[in-house]
This record gives sequence, C-alpha cells and structure tokens, in this order.
Amino acid sequence: MKTVGYASYSPDTEMVPYHFERRALRANDVAIEILYSGVCHSDLHTVNGDWGPQPSPIVPGHEIVGRVIEVGPKVSNYKVGDQVGVGCMVDSCQECDQCHHGEEQFCRHGMTPTYGAPDRISGEITQGGYSKHIVVREEFVLRIPEALDLSRAAPILCAGITTFSPLRTWNIGEGSRVGVIGLGGLGHMAVQLAAAMGAEVTVLSRSKQKEEEAKKIGAKGILASTDEDAMNAAASSFDLIIDTVPVEHDVTLYTPLLDVDATLVIVGQVGPMKEFMTVPMIMGRRRVAGSLIGGVKQTQEVLDFCAEHNIHPICEIIRPEQINEAFEVMEKGDIAHRYVMKMTDMADDA
Ligand SMILES: [Zn+2]
Ligand SMILES: [Zn+2]
Repeated sequence: MKTVGYASYSPDTEMVPYHFERRALRANDVAIEILYSGVCHSDLHTVNGDWGPQPSPIVPGHEIVGRVIEVGPKVSNYKVGDQVGVGCMVDSCQECDQCHHGEEQFCRHGMTPTYGAPDRISGEITQGGYSKHIVVREEFVLRIPEALDLSRAAPILCAGITTFSPLRTWNIGEGSRVGVIGLGGLGHMAVQLAAAMGAEVTVLSRSKQKEEEAKKIGAKGILASTDEDAMNAAASSFDLIIDTVPVEHDVTLYTPLLDVDATLVIVGQVGPMKEFMTVPMIMGRRRVAGSLIGGVKQTQEVLDFCAEHNIHPICEIIRPEQINEAFEVMEKGDIAHRYVMKMTDMADDA
C-alpha cells in the first residue's frame, strides 16, 4: 500500500515529505487511515539523535488515531470503519511472562516500537504516525471510544498512558495526595487523570505563574519549588509524586516531600540524572522509581477512563507541513499543550 508522510533523514535537516509503502496485510493485520497524529517529545529526541543514531529515513509518531480501512482474514476484533488508535508499540513476543500479564512494554524479548525498529517478521524498519496510513497487527490496535473527540484523543496513547500507569501501579484513589512536577504534555494529563481518580493534586513548579491553568484542570494549586518556606511546610505530605521534567535535574528538592514509604516516579527524563541525596530516602523508606508507558490492556483502560470522565489532552491542531515549526517551539521549552497533526490535510502528492 502506497502512503506518504513526513520523515527525517538526519538530525541536521528538516522533516520532509516521504513516499513509501506499507506492508501487504498479514492475516492478523489491520490497515488504518490515519486522521490525527500527536507530536510527542520523544519524536523530537529521536530525530535529533539524542537517543543515539537512528535509521534513516525515519517517520516518527506514536500517538495515532484513525479509521480501519481493511482487515486481514484472521482479524476478529475490528472491522472496516471502526475508529481506532495505535500507541508506542506495534508488536512483542506475545509469549513471555510480561506479555502474558499484559505488560508488553517490558517484553523479555523487547517490544517493537511504533517507529525506528525492525519488524519481527520482515526485518523492515517500522515507520510511525506522521503519515496517512499504517498497518498494525490487531493485538496492538486500540479502540477509540465514541465519547472521545477524535481530534484530541491521540495524545492519550502516549502522554495519557505514561501518566495513568503509575497512578494505577501505586493505587491512587479517593483522597490520595499526588504531586505532579511540571505542567507540560505529560503533566497536564497526570493532573486530570489523578483528579478524576479522586486524588488531591498539587502541581510542583518553579513559580505560581500557571496556577490558574493548573486549577482549571483539577489541581488544588501550585507549590512553588523556589519558595523554601512552602516547601518545608509541605514535607512528608505526598503519597506519590509524578516527575515529568524532561531534562536532567536533581530530585533531592522533591524527595523530602514524600510521606514515609511514598514514591517519586520518573516518567520524563530518559537518560542521566543529577546525583541525589539518599538521606531523605533512608530516613523515610522513600523511593525513587521509573515507569514506561503501559501495556495494551491498560492503554485501552486509559482511553475508556478518559471517555468516561470527559478528559481530553489540551491540543493544538496543526497541518502536517507545520511540523518543523512545531518542533522549533518544542525545542525552546515545555509547552502546556500537545501539537496534533491533522493527517488528512496532507496531499497524496505532497
Ligand atoms: Zn511519546
Ligand atoms: Zn514478550
């Protein structure tokens, strides 16, 4: 199947239109016309080569929403016309313990990311959602509930599941005290999801500048990390802190805020962190942990949860040819919304 998208050929060049083929349908494959594609910070890191050399050309994008246009003969859960999504993974071994209990992201044999890795059968490099079509095995296709606005659903597939999964892992519910560091793409999803679970949510930020915005999406308020008195007063007052800061930083500022046995979970920075003090951890059996997206089953759960609670990521819809401008803005700093490309705006002969 012929398709077109935006690809990166090297870290120093802009994204350009790229014409390529999607594989012929295997028996368990679903072919999807992509309607919307979210722009994630990981896409930018990947094309910039921040995580090492990448295949070239590479079509990023792992927040994909579209419609089924064809199914293989063995597909049983989807039919032509269904509204569906694809997140950060497109395959895994399906046989190991992790796959069996629905955590394909930790597959013992390595999951296959949506772009930039060899397909398990053909060895072809997977290409992501900055394109008009994608072909994915049905086990990795998600259903987009009718109640969600299609144009704003895509970021749930990465930003949503990345923050939902730790909230579930650490059993957040009615009355839990949750801190969210940073109010960017991940942070604003974390606030909405935790608030909908009944938690009391506080945003941790350098200043109170975004307080109104934080309150509007369900936070109690902002705790300014530069306000020493306020930080001291908040010692031992959180059950879970979700750290969405996407760059190297020191967690020692935040660990004393955790209650005994509580956890600070890192979901933003993938890479080195500043050295941190163990004293607050030892003195309160506090933990610093990490978390990676979530399994297919839980990704479906967060989509359904968002539909049920009318939660949508804050999105700005752009045309695919604006991708380079979007990357430029993201490069400059954390933005409190997600860019989502309307892929149907891309001409077939672009
Ligand atoms: Zn992502
Ligand atoms: Zn596996």
